[in-house]
Amino acid sequence: MRIFDPHIHMTSRTTDDYEAMYAAGVRAVVEPAFWLGQPRTSPASFVDYFDSLLGWEPFRAAQYGIAHHCTIALNPKEANDPRCAPVLDVLPRYLVKDNVVAVGEIGYDSMTPAEDHALAAQLGLAADHELPALVHTPHRDKLTGLRRTLDVVRESPLPLERVLIDHLNETTVKEAKDAGCWLGFSVYPDTKMDEERMVAILREYGPDQVLVNSAADWGKSDPLKTRKVGDAMLEAGFSDDDVDRVLWRNPVAFYGLSGRLVLDVTDAGPTHEGNSILRGGE
Ligand SMILES: [Zn+2]
Repeated sequence: MRIFDPHIHMTSRTTDDYEAMYAAGVRAVVEPAFWLGQPRTSPASFVDYFDSLLGWEPFRAAQYGIAHHCTIALNPKEANDPRCAPVLDVLPRYLVKDNVVAVGEIGYDSMTPAEDHALAAQLGLAADHELPALVHTPHRDKLTGLRRTLDVVRESPLPLERVLIDHLNETTVKEAKDAGCWLGFSVYPDTKMDEERMVAILREYGPDQVLVNSAADWGKSDPLKTRKVGDAMLEAGFSDDDVDRVLWRNPVAFYGLSGRLVLDVTDAGPTHEGNSILRGGE
């Protein structure tokens, strides 16, 4: 089984995770820029974070045979902090970089006017840079959040066919599908979506445009959830081709819209900016 995890925060994960992911079939990941838990206090912290998503983390992933790309954005939560909002002016110089395959994650957290502004501005940036967008839907008030999100996309220059709406569930999948978006599902250990619910959604709506991710980060999460969904699909009678479509071909097609996806793991070389991960060994 070949697996592309289209949404995972490897910065927060360990080398054991990289090894286990490779063993499970993961050969490519996309790491969206997001909220790190500890509030940032200036655009300079974002700059260092974006640089590590473009430099250090792909270097680390390559050691484990995994192709690593990222999406860049001001996340919805920090869009509310006036100390962070000026990072919007820094984004254009990152959105031209080869390894950036979308603008994201953008969207709503608490649906504030500051979030409205950041979302609309970043959908415009995606259109300007001919990039697709990864749009997160809020964890509370999901259907209201989805509708408001779709309205903002419709008013933006970015077509809905270039938008992946993430964190969908049974209450939001139909409207997102009818709108013509790509459909993202984050499969978590306890809450929100699980493997069985995911299989039921695939039965009802089919595998077209569907992407499954682990969204693994610093919270309770499981970077092998993609594989577990693949196994659950096979057990439920889906074909190998359906599994390959959901876990590989759909994410390749969506991020391929950027024209920048490179799936061969290039030899990272022994060091990144003079540093190895060998701690002085061999
Ligand atoms: Zn995320």
